[in-house]
Amino acid sequence: MKNLLLLFSLICFVSCNDANQEKQKQNKSESEKTTENDSVQNFGIVIHGGAGTILKENISDSLEQAYKDKLEEAIKTGHEILANGGTAIEAVQKTINVMEDSPLFNSAKGAVFTNEGKNELDASIMDGKTLNAGAIAGVTNVKNPINLAYEVMENSEHVLLSGKGAEDFAKEQGLEIVDPEYFYTENRFKAMERAREREKQKSNKTAFYDPFIKDEKFGTVGCAALDKNGNLAAGTSTGGMSNKKYNRIGDAPIIGAGTYANNKTAAISSTGWGEYFIRGVVAYDISAMMEYKGVSLKEATHEVIQNKLGELGGTGGIIAIDHDGNVSMEFNTAGMYRASMNSNGEMSIGIYKE
Ligand code: ASP
Repeated sequence: MKNLLLLFSLICFVSCNDANQEKQKQNKSESEKTTENDSVQNFGIVIHGGAGTILKENISDSLEQAYKDKLEEAIKTGHEILANGGTAIEAVQKTINVMEDSPLFNSAKGAVFTNEGKNELDASIMDGKTLNAGAIAGVTNVKNPINLAYEVMENSEHVLLSGKGAEDFAKEQGLEIVDPEYFYTENRFKAMERAREREKQKSNKTAFYDPFIKDEKFGTVGCAALDKNGNLAAGTSTGGMSNKKYNRIGDAPIIGAGTYANNKTAAISSTGWGEYFIRGVVAYDISAMMEYKGVSLKEATHEVIQNKLGELGGTGGIIAIDHDGNVSMEFNTAGMYRASMNSNGEMSIGIYKE
């Protein structure tokens, strides 16, 4: 009997202990979950659809609504990816695809025309976790240039491909190729013809920098995102500047000028007069100010766009998000198509200066 009792208490002790250990394990994984969740509070996304002389009096109510609807569709696309645990890179790419497929923006479908009546597309993407990047310039038949920039980043040992070589690479990667006619839109073609006409009345050298002409040249799309794992990414896609010549390449495919992302600082996409953004290394300058001077995203973007870019004579803007989810949409033009959305689902959409 004594032995039986002893055996019974032993079984009891062992099973109680197992149950305790199981409970401890459960508690541990619960607390791990909480820490994981704590680090996911600040995901967010921000986009632009180009900056320039965008004035309310020049835009009809229905066109304004069309821009707002498309910006909303794009930002919600990326936000949903992030909310479901997708990566910042995926969110950037898919969000940009929505704007690339719309004739409203100077990117892919709505790209501006070169002086020769062609559409030459530039794009870039950067991963803030690895500092890996991909970019393409001067492609004429790739439906979604940002997807080609992504393939360059993921599946080549290069960063920047251009022209025919980039198009061959797109085919090898199985990307959607379209007839260049796909990029034709009447208003962009007419804008280029107007610019060409005005240019004829001036000397070649000054025409490109004519303040009257330059405002018809702008419009680009870009996106910057922070995902639930704290990774940042940015991307930019454009047709460049209307009436461009000599296979001119702007800032959009230049890492550090048009696009930059670094988990230590921020993800940034630029839009505006590309020559100035290249000379000012604008996107990297913002990141460098944050990294080396320890200033906030807000201070860095204000200093670079309102002071440094302006002093050079450049016009345009940026959208950016930092590693804490703070967002900046800074521009020195009359307007910039823009939108942002945070982890609480709060969305803001803007076109003109407040
Ligand atoms: N930055 C682009 C370029 O210079 C144009 C734009 O953003 O509107 O090619």
